[in-house]
Amino acid sequence: MLDKIWYPTDKNFIGGKWVAPVGGKYLELENPSTGKPLTRISRGKAADIDHAVAAAQTALDGEWGRTTALERGRILTRIGKLVKTRIEELGEIEANDVGKPLTQARNDAIALARYMEFYGGAADKVMGETIPYMDGYTVYTLREPHGVTGHIVPWNYPMQIIGRSVGAALAMGNACVLKPAEEACLTALGFAALAEEAGLPAGALNVVTGLGEEAGAALSGHAGVQHISFTGSVGVGQLVQAAAAQNVVPVTLELGGKSPQVVFDDADLDAALPFLVGACIQNAGQTCSASSRVLIQRGVYDALLARMADSYSGLMVGTAMSDVNVGPLISARQKEIVTGFMEQGADLRMAAQGSIVEGTPEGGHYVLPTLFADVPPDHVLAQSEIFGPVQVVIPFEDEAEAVAIANGTDFGLVASVWTLDGARQMRMAKALRVGQVFINNYGAGGGVELPFGGAGKSGHGREKGFEALYGFSTLKTVAAYHG
Ligand code: NAD
Repeated sequence: MLDKIWYPTDKNFIGGKWVAPVGGKYLELENPSTGKPLTRISRGKAADIDHAVAAAQTALDGEWGRTTALERGRILTRIGKLVKTRIEELGEIEANDVGKPLTQARNDAIALARYMEFYGGAADKVMGETIPYMDGYTVYTLREPHGVTGHIVPWNYPMQIIGRSVGAALAMGNACVLKPAEEACLTALGFAALAEEAGLPAGALNVVTGLGEEAGAALSGHAGVQHISFTGSVGVGQLVQAAAAQNVVPVTLELGGKSPQVVFDDADLDAALPFLVGACIQNAGQTCSASSRVLIQRGVYDALLARMADSYSGLMVGTAMSDVNVGPLISARQKEIVTGFMEQGADLRMAAQGSIVEGTPEGGHYVLPTLFADVPPDHVLAQSEIFGPVQVVIPFEDEAEAVAIANGTDFGLVASVWTLDGARQMRMAKALRVGQVFINNYGAGGGVELPFGGAGKSGHGREKGFEALYGFSTLKTVAAYHG
């Protein structure tokens, strides 16, 4: 796989140059499919973040700050085209770095290209307005970049999350400092290489790899940063928000989830089945919007559960490159967390489990996809974000109970409703306390055009779609008195 990498992996990308970390320290990346070392990356620290923030500010004060919206859009579109020429490489790099099955990794690269295309097209279409005011005045608003934006992203969907946050931020004219996750950051560096090739002015995008508590903390508390976009766990999100509060800068928090799919008796079960299972086991359940809870109305409960169990029994687990249904988890630590949760399900009815491909390397971090049935809504497995291929099935009697169970966790990211009753679809969409509701479908990841974000402990702010452009800009009101 290493022969597929065409850019330096053990350097930071700052001010348009590939530079070694200031302290000369490195971290080892691991291939989750084998547990063996992959390559080394820079262990960037506060000094590297200082350089990156300074380079971003220099870009804003120079060429990047003068680049028109039209030209920013053209550059993003060019990046998207270059990403498209590298789908195979990026997919293979991501599969080896994250452990996700090759087809899913390729799809992330395709989504990255689409984000660039979307935000490239949108860059010159964000407008202010004129406001009727007192006699003798003309009042209008300007949409302006925040300035230097910090982007802290996790390891589970690096390309998609970089596409949605850095893409929207660049479209609005911000200069970005990106801190990818220490577990998987190779495609973040690849993205920087493609942005450079596409002619993005130096300093508009800077990438510093390193540990969360070092480079990440330095970025989130940096006085030179005017907006932070954080995607990751609730606990770290709280730290990032507290750090940003010291500088009084806005934060977008995209955190975890416990997203339900609610299936009513009248649903098209054939249509629902692949979404019910697929939306949980995608990326081995390590998806913020994974549908880890399925609520089924009593009338179809037994029949649908049996069909879900059948699907689970057919699921295969193997290396990312074997491209079967489920790959390894990201790390030994993540496996320990997920198996710890599964042990807490010892009192539950295990309805089915998948199996592992013969010859799969012992050192990889594999967990069998597991379906638990008849789970009480307040059980720890029905309340906690497990972040592994573990799904719970919960029966319900009527619409009111379905809403109470669906809304009965700390999270509120995504939900789906499966019913052919149009009035119920509308009632449920209103009643569910989440950022996205899908009716007779489910989208885990993807959906470049669709505003995305959470309620409750799933976070606040919206990324993706046109809406993100408002979050990555600030509004200035100009009131001109002319008599
Ligand atoms: P994490 O919070 O441990 O790490 C995320 C990022 O934060 C990494 O880049 C890490 O280096 C950095 N970080 C860690 N400590 C930090 C600190 N003290 N200060 C600043 N940055 C720090 O999350 P994770 O375990 O890598 O990712 C899994 C979590 O991310 C899950 O909870 C998942 O639901 C969530 N997630 C949410 C979304 C979404 O869009 N809502 C998408 C993907 C993942």
